[in-house]
Amino acid sequence: MAPIVRTVRGDVDPADLGITLCHEHVIVDAREGFADPDIYLDDPEEVAEDLREAARYGLRTVVDVTNVGMHRRPLAVRRVAELSGLHVVAGAGFYHGHFLPDYVHEMDVDELAASIVREVEVGIEDSGVRAGVIGEVGASEGGLTPTERRLFLATGQAQRLTGAPVVTHTALGQQAMEQLDLLEDGGADPTKVLVGHMDCNLDLAAHLAVAERGAFVGIDRINARKYPWDDKRVELVLGLAERGYAGRVILSHDLSRKSRLLKNGGTGYGFILREFVPALRRAGADDNLLHLILVENPCHLLAFAPRQ
Ligand SMILES: [Zn+2]
Repeated sequence: MAPIVRTVRGDVDPADLGITLCHEHVIVDAREGFADPDIYLDDPEEVAEDLREAARYGLRTVVDVTNVGMHRRPLAVRRVAELSGLHVVAGAGFYHGHFLPDYVHEMDVDELAASIVREVEVGIEDSGVRAGVIGEVGASEGGLTPTERRLFLATGQAQRLTGAPVVTHTALGQQAMEQLDLLEDGGADPTKVLVGHMDCNLDLAAHLAVAERGAFVGIDRINARKYPWDDKRVELVLGLAERGYAGRVILSHDLSRKSRLLKNGGTGYGFILREFVPALRRAGADDNLLHLILVENPCHLLAFAPRQ
């Protein structure tokens, strides 16, 4: 079959994606896991309103990497797509660590992989909404737990079987190589993997190591209050580009907090287009580089040829 991008409203032509944010949350409830009442987006209209504002600056597609462990609600995610008019891609698979429900620890690699494959090919739970990425699949700080190692192997297996892309969560940009090793051991194609939260690690060498493996580098916590170094992010993006890896860079906000929505005094899903892209331009990024990073790289990550 021809490559498609699998959105919550159906498969679309990859050429239709336009400017895309690959690591966001639109409906999420991780209040308990983070012990933080702010990490809660529950109202499709509230989120859609923010996305419509970002669309005025050119945003066309957003990937919601909320999965098992963050109270995913696929029908509400589809409602966000309907209300905003944007393409929205939903996540499959399992988050990490103490967020995981007890039953996950009892499942072997094949069972975990089968569960992920079903979410991509049949639907998430009984919603009929199919996932278009596997992620965010994560690792705990201090090292991957045995369950997390099985989840990365299973994710690799599911990537190989479905063709669907993978989005990972690293603990502050650490363990990227270990994640890629496990995904490849499971059978994954590294060029279909976005390694997340690399911008919590400001060492350019770590970013280059990910790009050299063929994977995408997630500069995906732009404007996050806990990691306030967007000037360093500009340097990382241009550092990767200068060394020939512009084709591996992906930008996103990892927005999951109610307080980050425009209506609550935050900067919303439009921050990158309103503020960060102009900063990249001031530092020397030209139209070709920006189109590559904002449009073409997400398209290459997200497009896949389904089995059926
Ligand atoms: Zn994450």
